[in-house]
Amino acid sequence: MENTKYIFVTGGVLSGVGKGITAASIGAVLQSQGVKVSIQKCDPYLNVDAGLLNPKEHGECFVTKDGAETDLDLGHYERFLNLELTQKNATLSGKLLSQLIADERAGKFGGRTVQLVPHLTGAIQDAIELAADGQVHIVEIGGTVGDYEGLSFVEAIREFSMRVGRENCMYVHVVYVPFISTSKEFKTKPAQNALNDLRGFGITPDCVVVRTDEPAPHSTAEKIASFSGVASDGVILLPNARTVYEVPLSIASSGIHKVLQRFLPIGEAVPEMKSWRELVSHVHAENTPIVNVGVVAKYLDNEDTYISVLEALKAAAWHDKLQVNIVWINAETAAEEDFAAVDALVVPGGFGERGVEGKIAAARYALTHNKPYLGICLGLQVAVIAAARMSGLEQANSSEFNPNTPHNVIYIMEGQAGKESTGGTLRLGDYPAVAVAGSLVEQLYGSLHITERHRHRYEVNRQFEAAFNSGGLIVSGTSPDGKLVEFVEAKNQNFFVATQAHPEFRSRPHNPHPLFVGLIRATEAAQAGTR
Ligand code: GLN
Repeated sequence: MENTKYIFVTGGVLSGVGKGITAASIGAVLQSQGVKVSIQKCDPYLNVDAGLLNPKEHGECFVTKDGAETDLDLGHYERFLNLELTQKNATLSGKLLSQLIADERAGKFGGRTVQLVPHLTGAIQDAIELAADGQVHIVEIGGTVGDYEGLSFVEAIREFSMRVGRENCMYVHVVYVPFISTSKEFKTKPAQNALNDLRGFGITPDCVVVRTDEPAPHSTAEKIASFSGVASDGVILLPNARTVYEVPLSIASSGIHKVLQRFLPIGEAVPEMKSWRELVSHVHAENTPIVNVGVVAKYLDNEDTYISVLEALKAAAWHDKLQVNIVWINAETAAEEDFAAVDALVVPGGFGERGVEGKIAAARYALTHNKPYLGICLGLQVAVIAAARMSGLEQANSSEFNPNTPHNVIYIMEGQAGKESTGGTLRLGDYPAVAVAGSLVEQLYGSLHITERHRHRYEVNRQFEAAFNSGGLIVSGTSPDGKLVEFVEAKNQNFFVATQAHPEFRSRPHNPHPLFVGLIRATEAAQAGTR
């Protein structure tokens, strides 16, 4: 896009200090000043996408509307900036390299040698330009500067300033400053080294964001400024926030707008950020009713695996001036007492057999105890299995977990179109659905026509519909041709809804998703009834 300004966000010292949240928050501050923002994640991994990355290690695989399987930072971006991103916004080395190698094989380089510089660095720059779709395009570079595999990206963003002009590029480096409790000192040395590393690659940042666990004194910023050649008002202190949704407020009041003002024609006034202030006041509201939601899951040691589901639950609760208390229920050991101890149950998406019986048991418990239930993707499949078993089909299962079951109530459909991946075809990204008139699903969405994102291989086998109907579940939404089951719900229950899709990806902190709002509301109403 012509006249686009670019903000590059890199990290130093260590990873995991909130570079993605910082990038998204800078975007939120600019949006509040009327700037149209776009955003992109560049990841040096050699993976082609995040589809096969282990969620236990990397957290959730976020899915865009056009079916890109990405890193969870795209989820932060979508939530903070209320955007719907696409393939273009997630750039991994593997994706660019495989294209380069394919082009080389196709003879597109006319006999020239193909090299990381300039070919990969050029491809990175092209990918950045292609994704830019605002007045300001923010680009986060994954990992930390100096990582061997990230060198091409750092070189690419340096070269980029020659492509579009240095005045159109702003470099933000996010560093971590530890506090040494024995000497009661903030130690800036690792940050200084990280800034030296960046300058060694030819980039002097315009802004340094200093992450600390506790608030640091101004002298910390001054020290970093004097050692790094960055103007002292370009060093921003960003201590830990109680919630990530506070970070846009911290960024707005941090003085970064002075740096932004030199870079962009934005007003002098510190942005108001009213909607964020309101959101944070709900997050911290005290003495509000608490809803205990049990999440039946198998990756219990990394909450990032279910981050969009958790954020969707929280957003729905805050919206109704409630708090949600997430209770983790281990799918592998789950027992009735665990289900009884919570006010509502959520079974999120998942792949593979481990823990699935516990999830089926959760759905059965919800069906037989009128416990509010929201099933997401696998959470719909286990509900169908539970209902079919309750109707007498004891061997009912998904062919994912028992390929030989005679009652494959969840199965792989012949001729399904989608992305070929290990072991089958994935239905990925946005698909339309039509709700059954008069269903709870129609009521919740306020429409018969629904679009949600998908990521799954298996489908409900409608040959067994009579069986799961008699177990208490009805189909309440299908694909427009009526073939694929998109929603099921239980009649005569407070709230029992499941979807084959992943509604959590479209929930926003300022605009929670109707299925999550429905669950939280029904749960609170049931609680209020018993108080
Ligand atoms: N494993 C199931 C499938 O592939 C569910 C996937 C999911 O929950 N995202 O259909």
